[in-house]
Amino acid sequence: MKYSTFNELIKLDNNKKYIYNSLSNCLLQIEDDMYSKFESLSSDSSSLNVSNMDTKILNKLSEFKIFTENDEVEIDRLHMHMLASRFDATRMNLTIAPTRACNFNCTYCYEVFRPAEHMTKNTEDKILDFVKKSNPKKLHITWYGGEPLLKFETIERLSNKLSENGIVFSGMLITNGYLLTKNIISKLGDCEIKSIQFTLDGVESVHDKRRMLLSGGKTYKRILLNITELLKSSVSQNMIIKIRINVDQSNINDYSQVKESLQTKFLQYNRNIVIYPGWVTGETNPDLPCLSKSDISEFTLSNSKSFFPNNSMIECMARHVNSFLIGPNGDLYKCWHNLGNENYKLGNIYDDRLIINDLVLSKFIIGTDPFLHQECRKCKILPYVGVDVQWKGLKISS
Ligand code: SF4
Repeated sequence: MKYSTFNELIKLDNNKKYIYNSLSNCLLQIEDDMYSKFESLSSDSSSLNVSNMDTKILNKLSEFKIFTENDEVEIDRLHMHMLASRFDATRMNLTIAPTRACNFNCTYCYEVFRPAEHMTKNTEDKILDFVKKSNPKKLHITWYGGEPLLKFETIERLSNKLSENGIVFSGMLITNGYLLTKNIISKLGDCEIKSIQFTLDGVESVHDKRRMLLSGGKTYKRILLNITELLKSSVSQNMIIKIRINVDQSNINDYSQVKESLQTKFLQYNRNIVIYPGWVTGETNPDLPCLSKSDISEFTLSNSKSFFPNNSMIECMARHVNSFLIGPNGDLYKCWHNLGNENYKLGNIYDDRLIINDLVLSKFIIGTDPFLHQECRKCKILPYVGVDVQWKGLKISS
């Protein structure tokens, strides 16, 4: 039995003492004498002697993985669950861009080139065939762009085709919100849209300077009107409505006020609304007053009433064997950031052999795996790594 590498001792200002284990995600309040024992074990885990320890306490500490037979075995078990989920081909996640065009000209857009390239009916049929061949038990579609509502007819037609073929699926729409008319809202239910993500850039004056129309026109008021129409509709009753507020150093101090005013404004509709910050980092546009990782951590901690880590190890969709981004011309990619980038293109939905670039595919699926690196296996936050490691790792290794 040994004292786990994944333990962290915590002493608060009020002198309360805790031990946290990141493998079990368990936090225990402990007495002073226990804290001192654990403190000495952290510097020398070989000094662990369980012979005079109460069996009940010992069993509890083992159950919470504070004491373990072998950390390595625990890490392998975690890795196995992660791999099982990554290679579970009964699930399929498609991100479909009906167009690469956009009606906005945001200052930080990472889709630098937004050509007026739209999906044809033929490509919709090819996607339908692709799904039929894959025959997933669970299909989730994220409608993405450019601005996907510029080509709502593709969303509507392809959703209908899937339903007519008996394919059960759920949809999410990522939109700037400007084109969400009452007519489109009335059709969202038929398209199985279960969640919608809008983006605002803080208070109206800041938003309108950063998320303007291609013509330079303002967009804030119209987006808010459209969100309100959605909230009034019955279709939004079973939907999750996400409002992402982009923040960087110049507007980070407005975030709480914007969030509160939106919450107050929309409270009467009693809908499932999630408002959260979207970090503008150097990856999107290095010329902006971007936030560093420590800015983000500091902000998150100081703005959270309560915070408990989540070690469910949910990986980015790019990691999953049956998840693809499909561009309007049928090009296949793994990551949303890569749309239109030939270096990261996997193949095309029209080709007999869909995936021709298996080097990129394998990099995304099995490359940069922290479980395969000795240094990462000793890291206390290993159980939280998942979502972002793939893309960052790929860039580092390339
Ligand atoms: S709405 Fe999205 S795709 Fe369009 S310009 Fe803004 S960030 Fe780019």
